[in-house]
Amino acid sequence: MVRRLKVLLHEMSWVEAKEYFSKNDIAIIPVGSNEQHGPQNPLGTDHLIAKAIAEETAKRTGIICLPVIPFGVSAHHKQFWGTIYVSPKAFKNYVKDVCLALNYYGVKKFVIVNGHGGNLHALAELAMELRDKEIFLSIFQWWPAASKLLPELFKPEERRHACAEETSVNLALYPHIVDMSKAVDEEPGKHVVEAEGITLPLGTADYTGSGVWGKSTTASAEKGKKVFEVVVAELVKHVNRLKNTRNEDLSVKPKA
Ligand SMILES: [Zn+2]
Repeated sequence: MVRRLKVLLHEMSWVEAKEYFSKNDIAIIPVGSNEQHGPQNPLGTDHLIAKAIAEETAKRTGIICLPVIPFGVSAHHKQFWGTIYVSPKAFKNYVKDVCLALNYYGVKKFVIVNGHGGNLHALAELAMELRDKEIFLSIFQWWPAASKLLPELFKPEERRHACAEETSVNLALYPHIVDMSKAVDEEPGKHVVEAEGITLPLGTADYTGSGVWGKSTTASAEKGKKVFEVVVAELVKHVNRLKNTRNEDLSVKPKA
């Protein structure tokens, strides 16, 4: 029997992990959130998509992938049942501890595959902090990674939270847990005090009753597959580049 190369850390033995880490200083960590995505999508949408992209990239590059970190910064969805959120500080510290645990085995480069926009701020803060410790974090998000393709496939009202764009990727990856008979289109409302240049402490429930932020009924698995392919190709490119970059070229520059 031909043994397939293992790339998922949780499937390896410690002996196999030792072999990997003694030759490689790079790892992929998928992170997401567990939050409402309308009546048609699973709560796990953001972490399930991140996991699929990260694991496929690991297979194509031979770079190790960690189990997905499922809970993220998503208190703004809490009115919708089943949403589980953690504070930005808890999220940042959790991801940091995971990185430091692997740094003990020599990992110096991490690619964070983030499936939830609300996590970005905490991740960016962590990346800045860890660079001072000679640990380099890059953060990958699938929707900006397909910035050319997505506007060709979807109208602006199909591109927001739980809309056709996200639902299509779910349909491509996890069709058995998407129920398109429940999909709705809902034009998000405007809050009475909204104005240009103003940031408000509002949640999703202030804008939509279904959790869908526009049009979701037009989702298709075919479009989702196209998005997945483009996104994984982009991430593979980045992972290979990062793998081949010398650590000294990633370090913080000295004082001028
Ligand atoms: Zn999402």
